[in-house]
Amino acid sequence: MNKDFTIISGPCSFESIDQIDKHFNELDSQFLRAGIFKLRTAHESFQGLRSKGISDIRDLKEKYKFKFVSEIVSKESLENIAEITDIFQIGTRNMYNYELLKEVSKYKKKTILKRAFSATIDEWIKAGKYIDEYLENVILCERGIRTFEPSYRNTLDLNAVSFIKRNYGFNVIVDPSHGTGDAKMVEDLSLAALACGADGLLIETHFDPKNSISDANQALSLDQMNGLVEKLKEASKIFNKKVIF
Ligand code: PEP
Ligand code: MN
Repeated sequence: MNKDFTIISGPCSFESIDQIDKHFNELDSQFLRAGIFKLRTAHESFQGLRSKGISDIRDLKEKYKFKFVSEIVSKESLENIAEITDIFQIGTRNMYNYELLKEVSKYKKKTILKRAFSATIDEWIKAGKYIDEYLENVILCERGIRTFEPSYRNTLDLNAVSFIKRNYGFNVIVDPSHGTGDAKMVEDLSLAALACGADGLLIETHFDPKNSISDANQALSLDQMNGLVEKLKEASKIFNKKVIF
């Protein structure tokens, strides 16, 4: 039987209803990732629509029937978006926030746990156990680590994917958008993620990448995203995987 390779895509930040209408006019996908609460390095950067975005997402889910993936940044944001969110996302900056992980564990929902950019694999797995002791509800997400190499935003550690799949078998997906910070590299690293045993991808897209409010450099256009899905469908045959998009 073929194993699933699940591709979750969407904008870094939820910006407007029109943005999501454009997304679903181009992409025939059952998932949407979009940040409502954003954790940004600079305090003056866009922090997300926050509570103001919730009712619009509820209406959009009704219209397009997608599964919603969104980052929670605090206990308050968790309580705010739990009802509209099908898969929680914990960002790289919060992997070590054990009190937040304990709160998330109470919901017993699928949770994408991004690797902190300086975490060892052991620390990452231990963080996952705060959410679910056996990591059944946890989807580990390799999103790049900080190394001495300054040519790209992060260094995507695909070794970690192969290592975890072969030694533990936990669910692992790859985020080549934050892993590279460069839309031109996203396709290469997506195909590499499939080849090294990942269970799927988390990819940033935008209908007009250069005008994306956050992470514009790494967003794929919707055309590029459709092209990538087609390539992954072809490549997945070699690895006995079935693309779910
Ligand atoms: C994101 O997915 O938009 C994000 C903020 O990711 P990370 O936590 O990996 O930086
Ligand atoms: Mn982002």
